[in-house]
Amino acid sequence: MQPETHAPEIPQANPLTDGFVRVRGARENNLRNVDVDVPRDSIVAFTGVSGSGKSSLAFGTIYAEAQRRYFESVAPYARRLIQQGHNPKVEQITGLPPAVALQQRRGAQSSRSSVGTVTTLSNSARMLFSRAGSYPEGARQLDSDAFSPNTAAGACPECHGLGVAHTVSEASLVPDPSLSIRDGAIAAWPGAWQGKNLRDIVTHLGYDVETPWRELPKKDRDWILFTEEQPVVEVTPERDRVAKPYKGRFWSARSYVLHTLADSKSASMRERVLQFMHTGPCERCGGSGLRADALAVTFAGRTIAELNAVPLTELADIIRPTAELTSAGTASRRRASGEGDEVAVALTRDLLQRITVLLELGLGYLALGRSTPTLSPGEMQRLRIATQLRSGLFGVIYVLDEPSAGLHPADAEPLLTVLDQLRVSGNSVFVVEHNMDVVHRADWVVDVGPRAGEGGGEILYSGPVAGLRDVPGSVTRPFLFPEQADGTDDDGDSSEPGSGRNSRNGSCREAAGWLELSGISRHNLRSLDVDFPLGVLTAVTGVSGSGKSTLVSQVLAEVVGERLHPRDAAPEGATTADSPVGSLNVGSFPGRNQLDRLVTVDQKPIGRTPRSNLATYTGLFDAVRKEFAATDEARARGYGAGRFSFNVAGGRCETCQGEGFVAVELLFLPGSYGPCPECGGSRFNPETLEVLYRGRNVADVLRMTVSSAAEFLSDVPSAARSLQTLLEVGLGYLRLGQPATELSGGEAQRIKLATEMQRAQRGHTLYLLDEPTTGLHPADVELLMAQLHRLVDAGNTVIVVEHKMDVVASADWVIDLGPAGGDGGGEVMAVGTPAAVARSKKSRTAPYLAAACR
Ligand code: ADP
Ligand code: ADP
Ligand code: ZN
Ligand code: ZN
Repeated sequence: MQPETHAPEIPQANPLTDGFVRVRGARENNLRNVDVDVPRDSIVAFTGVSGSGKSSLAFGTIYAEAQRRYFESVAPYARRLIQQGHNPKVEQITGLPPAVALQQRRGAQSSRSSVGTVTTLSNSARMLFSRAGSYPEGARQLDSDAFSPNTAAGACPECHGLGVAHTVSEASLVPDPSLSIRDGAIAAWPGAWQGKNLRDIVTHLGYDVETPWRELPKKDRDWILFTEEQPVVEVTPERDRVAKPYKGRFWSARSYVLHTLADSKSASMRERVLQFMHTGPCERCGGSGLRADALAVTFAGRTIAELNAVPLTELADIIRPTAELTSAGTASRRRASGEGDEVAVALTRDLLQRITVLLELGLGYLALGRSTPTLSPGEMQRLRIATQLRSGLFGVIYVLDEPSAGLHPADAEPLLTVLDQLRVSGNSVFVVEHNMDVVHRADWVVDVGPRAGEGGGEILYSGPVAGLRDVPGSVTRPFLFPEQADGTDDDGDSSEPGSGRNSRNGSCREAAGWLELSGISRHNLRSLDVDFPLGVLTAVTGVSGSGKSTLVSQVLAEVVGERLHPRDAAPEGATTADSPVGSLNVGSFPGRNQLDRLVTVDQKPIGRTPRSNLATYTGLFDAVRKEFAATDEARARGYGAGRFSFNVAGGRCETCQGEGFVAVELLFLPGSYGPCPECGGSRFNPETLEVLYRGRNVADVLRMTVSSAAEFLSDVPSAARSLQTLLEVGLGYLRLGQPATELSGGEAQRIKLATEMQRAQRGHTLYLLDEPTTGLHPADVELLMAQLHRLVDAGNTVIVVEHKMDVVASADWVIDLGPAGGDGGGEVMAVGTPAAVARSKKSRTAPYLAAACR
């Protein structure tokens, strides 16, 4: 064979230079064997109703294929360690660069991750303190690691950097000392096979596992519970079916519990180990998680813990004077400090530049130390976008879902600028987007549809945005070009904000009473007085960080919840995990007798563990289990409904205890997950799966989408009703068993709403919703609003936090907060009917609302 040194010019177009990603034969989920070409180095918007197949194309096909190729290039042994996506169903994709996904779906988030860590700004801040901080007389200079609670060098020895002290004692780890180790005395150890491994290991190490715990020598008990040693021993499992010897590592109960709490990705595992600990604030570090020597160092007179707590706008002001120092010889301004030297100037300049991007994205009200689980998905995604700007990557496709979610129209402009910067630095930006203002600004649009699920999956249009005007079958077209809906076929620029098409404009309902709150103080709300009208639909507006969620989802929810149910703490999902900041004082509550129930329909996950899912949350799974229990096969075997639950012993797979996955102990990667080797992820044991209902087992049913289940169970009234309401809020595409932790905030919220609707209550319920339209196509927004108006027509009160101006225009009453985010906000700027607020001179919302009210 000839060596291929003189390969001839390839005659066809080089797919990497002709500028297009060409997808052929895409069949992922509902995609109907589609072909589509999308330009690289452009901003491409993927549009279509929820469930039409946008994500299946952008994430499920293009991104997944890019990931798969990356994965193929990784050494085989390392592949096992990387969480593998799936192989997309597609014939061919050419011209595909590497891709990065910035999705909003909430995964389990580590309790240690914060604004500073996800943006890596904390690294720079630490460097600044290390190199340029002011140290106490005689103190040695510290490494930057010393300023991180997440490193061995920096972590407060008491709380290991958590800021909270979770302590263990023999009593907390071994609740029942009359048990032997074999019988499970060490309750804090993991269950199932991992726990058995640990028992095998202690047996091998020569400890007595048969004697009741309390009769063991203290020395042995202390070692097993508290040692830091982790001997690795070769163990022959004593009672295993496949008795292959293996290497096992010992974890004392304390190490296991602390390790799980700090590193496990599974919220349920973290929650489980907390049961075996005493919890309180760490006194030694004041909650900062840092050592005393690090807390003694200051920059601009503040400790790093103090800088972590101030809003980014303030942080920028604090470091700006240093960043703007121009003369090189400014060093040794102060002794024992490098605060004015060149290093300090360079570091603060870099920090300031990066913080500025966050300020531009309207996130200046956040602090570095703010923990990410308290952020909205939209805030989280914008943090990630800003971080990518600095990554220096080029030639990459960024795939994003709804980057405009949670943004006031006034903040959308800077976001577009940032997306454009990503493009200008040589990247492609693919967005799944419902905001028509963003779509108008894209270079290219791919419209998927026409409808959801089976009724969708086709490419209706792929080309420059203006061309969608001529595609009659597109559900997106009338929203993108509203002037056509009125029959006026004008070719002018239609990119003005908000294109109101709402039928309710100008027909506001009258309040049936008032809920008067006064003296509210929390976060940035200071002694605020607000009156909410009852029996109508109210929209609360304002720029990001102005205090809308604090007012509605926290304060209002807590106050009303407390007054309605003085006995129980707070209504479900109404409070955040963080401790209340500031005080709360409600002067009067005269609306009391017009309310008897409070429902918070927020974007918080419907459950924190993969054990809860769509089917369990809506109660639908109860009906399914009853159907299975009523089959002849189940009756013959004596299986009741409980047998078909994965939450209790009996029918579930015991290896994974019904979770469907197990934690795998891997070197370098603590807390990795794999599908359960026993049940392959089905969650049930084989006997349970042998019972069929209409030819399907219970795991099959959990894998069905709402749409297919609605057909499959159409004659089972209790199930059919839940499924119908889920379809009505546009969730037909979700699988019944989809773990709660995988749902987007918007999906979780619509599930809650559907669960509510299915009760069909008349009456005096107060519904609180935080941005219910997130993730919805304008056509679906109309459906959702019709549902909300139905609730109000039935005598209920609905209060929504909202940014979409056509939704705000259709409300009866508007409360606008502002003027800015964080400390610059927290005031009521305008109140009244949409038309009245639209005329306000002070409100930043007014001009956008005015455009939508026309
Ligand atoms: P969109 O992004 O337009 O809202 P998706 O691409 O998420 O739509 O969904 C398109 C269709 O594919 C829906 O009918 C949905 O039921 C189906 N689908 C989405 N994800 C999955 C999945 N993991 N398994 C099976 N079907 C899915
Ligand atoms: P909006 O809903 O209008 O975006 P928020 O109510 O979320 O505004 O935020 C108002 C202010 O309160 C901001 O400065 C924000 O940083 C602060 N804040 C909100 N939630 C928390 C929290 N859990 N911990 C600390 N500060 C918070
Ligand atoms: Zn501490
Ligand atoms: Zn299993």
